[in-house]
Amino acid sequence: MKPLARITETFTESVIREMTRICDEAGGYNLSQGFPDFDSPPEIKEAAIRAIRENWNQYPVTFGEPELREAIAAKAFGYNGIACNPETDITVTCGATEAMIATLKAIVNPGDEIIVFEPFYENYGPDGILSGATPRYVTLHAPDWRIDFKELANAFNERTKAIIINTPNNPTGKVFSKDELEQIASLCTKWDVYAVTDEIYEHILYDDAKHVSMGALPGMEDRTITINSISKTYSVTGWRVGWAIAEKSITSRIRKVHDFLTVGAPTPLQHAAVTALQFDNSYYAELQQHYGKARTMMYGVLSECGFLPSLPDGAYYIIADISEVAPLVGSVNDVDFSKKLIEKTGVATVPGSSFYSKPDMGRNQVRFCYCKKQETLDAVATSFNDFFRMHANESVQSSGMTAL
Ligand code: GLN
Repeated sequence: MKPLARITETFTESVIREMTRICDEAGGYNLSQGFPDFDSPPEIKEAAIRAIRENWNQYPVTFGEPELREAIAAKAFGYNGIACNPETDITVTCGATEAMIATLKAIVNPGDEIIVFEPFYENYGPDGILSGATPRYVTLHAPDWRIDFKELANAFNERTKAIIINTPNNPTGKVFSKDELEQIASLCTKWDVYAVTDEIYEHILYDDAKHVSMGALPGMEDRTITINSISKTYSVTGWRVGWAIAEKSITSRIRKVHDFLTVGAPTPLQHAAVTALQFDNSYYAELQQHYGKARTMMYGVLSECGFLPSLPDGAYYIIADISEVAPLVGSVNDVDFSKKLIEKTGVATVPGSSFYSKPDMGRNQVRFCYCKKQETLDAVATSFNDFFRMHANESVQSSGMTAL
């Protein structure tokens, strides 16, 4: 048989999705894949049912139903400060995932370079390969995920076509400040580079963190492609409704790629998304309150059990260093740790190495997501306390010190 496509040889299965499968088989608590286990808002469930009953069941306008594009434009203006024309500047896609690959396919030629901050959401690697780009990784430095602007400036060159920015960031929880975005913007202008921003966690912010959109910064309007979706903000990750906002000549290319990739995102769910985008401020305040509580709790549980977690400013993930707890689990690296953790505690996580271009950079880390109901987080806390405290006691006793 003739060999299959070379580019697909280099892909590994998504570790995030693999961990979900292992977790389901074990009947565990899924703190690996970032999707809520609580109910979606009833108003939008009803809106989706109504849309089906009203017969919104055939192909949508390929680049998005007009009502939804209007609602996206209004929200982008009100929340992000991005002025866009719904007729010409928006493409509705099957989730932010399709928006990202359609955008890269629309702007990248083979041999172009794209800059990706690492640790990064694992799709960006294969997205780069599928679009023919060569990724150049720039490290976000722990513990506060700082950008070394000298390192970043060195990554830009004549071949650089785009930089991917995910803020609030998965997996680190970093929220890029206005000052950081302005410095990135000046490099984009200097090297004539597009900024592709994934802002899917824009409403999940803690303390006084503020979301700033690159596309709203002066001079970046025409070179930024702003990607978003209803998945995380409205807890409907399975609906697959996302979008890309970009200047009209870029949008016309994205629309062509999107049309041939998927034709359109599900029509009735696009109509229901209009209801979601029109929620008032109290919805977002409640969302933040819910995740704020979950963040404090998970950070506390992990710290008490001996992990060294990093407190996120946004999104709903915690990266935790496992150096201190790995001996208690008896693991040799992050992948082994994650597999043993499910066996021993029933809790699924994502090994840190899957967020880095060089797996060794994430060997001492795992990612927990806490977009789960209180009961799930309580059960995780009980299981972790039982396991880690018992083993900490054993190891303290065997070393002859006073037990906890
Ligand atoms: N963004 C989510 C995560 O990082 C999941 C995305 C997906 O699996 N499609 O867990």
